Amino acid sequence: MDVTESRRQFLRQASLGAAVAALTGPAALAQPLTAAMQHANKKKLGWAIVGLGKFATEQIMPNFNDCAHSQLVALVSGSPDKARKLAREYGIDEKSVYDYQNFDSIRDNPAVDVVYIILPNALHAEYTIRAAQAGKHVLCEKPMATSVEDCQKMIAACNKAGKQLMIAYRAQYEPFNLNAIERIRKGELGKIQFITADHGRPVKPTEDQADTWRVQKKLAGGGSLMDIGIYSLNACRYLTGEEPEEITAQIYSDPKDPRFKEVEDNVAFTLRFPSGILAACTSSYSYQGVKRGRVFGDKGWLDLDPLSDYDKHTMKIGTEQGEQEPKLKEGNQFAAEMDHLSQCIMQNKAPRTPGEEGLRDVRYMLAIYEAARKGKAVKV
Ligand code: NDP
Repeated sequence: MDVTESRRQFLRQASLGAAVAALTGPAALAQPLTAAMQHANKKKLGWAIVGLGKFATEQIMPNFNDCAHSQLVALVSGSPDKARKLAREYGIDEKSVYDYQNFDSIRDNPAVDVVYIILPNALHAEYTIRAAQAGKHVLCEKPMATSVEDCQKMIAACNKAGKQLMIAYRAQYEPFNLNAIERIRKGELGKIQFITADHGRPVKPTEDQADTWRVQKKLAGGGSLMDIGIYSLNACRYLTGEEPEEITAQIYSDPKDPRFKEVEDNVAFTLRFPSGILAACTSSYSYQGVKRGRVFGDKGWLDLDPLSDYDKHTMKIGTEQGEQEPKLKEGNQFAAEMDHLSQCIMQNKAPRTPGEEGLRDVRYMLAIYEAARKGKAVKV
């Protein structure tokens, strides 16, 4: 596409955006048109990763290869040797490698459009806010933050800067989950009655560097719930398309297990949705790997097992006619997620999983802790 055509395309999109805004109010436009125009001529937006840990280096960085609209152009790290080595490996200019002190000078790097925060949970807020103040759009890992106040500050900072904020709920960009949502909305399972969802894995802080901060309340915010129970919670919300009204919960951690001095191990919680759908979910730092969900309708059930893994998803459906395993194609959820944000920025559209989506889950998780603490149902 030449520059004139791409400008024409931008203007078409911009006038469409203005028309939508006129119909639905200012929320339909995700950022000021001038900001969106900066990106209109780019095929790929430039991304910076903040925090070069296990998830960033093993999952996210390699998957830029499959992105059509997103390109890795900068790194931010507290480990200079690791950052330099990765920069060489990924062909990133050394001038585009930052540490946590000089991170704010990323504002002077026009190659960076989006900053992806992949730090321990309690640091998400500070770096999201600094990124927005440096004039960058933000993708932030789950959980969005460890308090409602931090989530609100992150949303406010991005709004003030006229920048997009998306939370990295990769399962909402994953084909098996999207297909399940479509089937449920089409009524294939009949009226939905119940959902169960379970997420667990053994946390190993003495063996795995990535688990050391996960058992420290100050950095993690909580235990298995904040880390992986959030997948069960978020799935119940996107599978039903509803927001829970009431929550109950129980929590148990072995008092003799040194891993659970600060954060919780086993969590069982229930959600009641406005239509009457109930959900029963668990999360654990002691299960052997489980990441599954099942939706029960009056015409059939649907299993996703795993529901939220990096790959090898499976779906099974059971009806009166018997069981079937639809043949779906595995997709690259990481590339889809990053490209979704790049495209939203280029087209000036709000992302599917904005900051408000992350804020809701943080509110519900805090309500789960409250329900367990009080031993009674909490209205949300
Ligand atoms: P890691 O510990 O492997 O990585 C975190 C990185 O953050 C570190 O390597 C370090 O990078 C940087 N860092 C900065 N300050 C600190 C600090 N005080 N303590 C520890 N690390 C620090 O964790 P993960 O990669 O597993 O998780 C990071 C985030 O990603 C979390 O929010 C987690 O919930 C999320 N996540 C999401 C997944 C998903 O599927 N969506 C899967 C796994 C994690 P450096 O040395 O470069 O400074």
